[in-house]
Amino acid sequence: MGRGQVSPPSTFDINRERMIEEQLIARGINDQKILDAMRLVPRHLFVEDAMQAHAYGDFPLPIGSGQTISQPYIVALMTMALHLNGSEKVLEIGTGSGYHAAIISRLCSKVFTVERIDGLVGRARKVFDRLRYHNIVSRIDDGTVGWPAEAPFDGILVTAGGPRIPEPLLTQLADPGRLVMPVGNQDAQELQVVEKRDGVITVQTIEQVRFVDLIGAYGWPN
Ligand code: SAH
Repeated sequence: MGRGQVSPPSTFDINRERMIEEQLIARGINDQKILDAMRLVPRHLFVEDAMQAHAYGDFPLPIGSGQTISQPYIVALMTMALHLNGSEKVLEIGTGSGYHAAIISRLCSKVFTVERIDGLVGRARKVFDRLRYHNIVSRIDDGTVGWPAEAPFDGILVTAGGPRIPEPLLTQLADPGRLVMPVGNQDAQELQVVEKRDGVITVQTIEQVRFVDLIGAYGWPN
């Protein structure tokens, strides 16, 4: 390619743009910064090679160890509920593939992400390094106890479903701050958006969802 020329779009690029149009914009995701982040982040790099052709489909995908990467629309919806403006410190519980952390990292100042399964964290870190997403730090731990040393967090994103919002996360949420989490039983949950403002906590439900289990001290027992 000569100077000033750009490479032709790949099948992944075409599928990603279709995902933006048909799964996000068509369903009312209208935050331009979120759409741009989802245009930028190569979702196919976060799934196993055998799954890459399906990476931009309108469904969750297996990522190994019995876990899943969320459907693109749910990633966008949860991200929108955090109301990020670029300056925030965000805590994510459930790194999984690393895809959602990657999206958030383009929209805030720093992401702290916690995952309980060792092998998943290692793989996600490799992708963050490859993409040079240097504002994401990760650790292996039970995320239901939060990350006390780095609290408070302006935003907290829980990407696994639990019976209730873990108390330590509410404590570690900044004021003002927003937390998004699927809450319910192990078959179905509602996506709850918690807002802390002037010491007052309000909870709103935005969608019916189905996530893998949040397992830990303040989640489901192992
Ligand atoms: N955000 C992820 C979604 C992964 S699925 C992505 O974009 O791919 C949810 C993840 O939460 C799983 O990987 C699961 O192992 C993890 N998880 C469940 N309970 C956890 C806990 N207590 N602490 C940290 N991670 C947990």
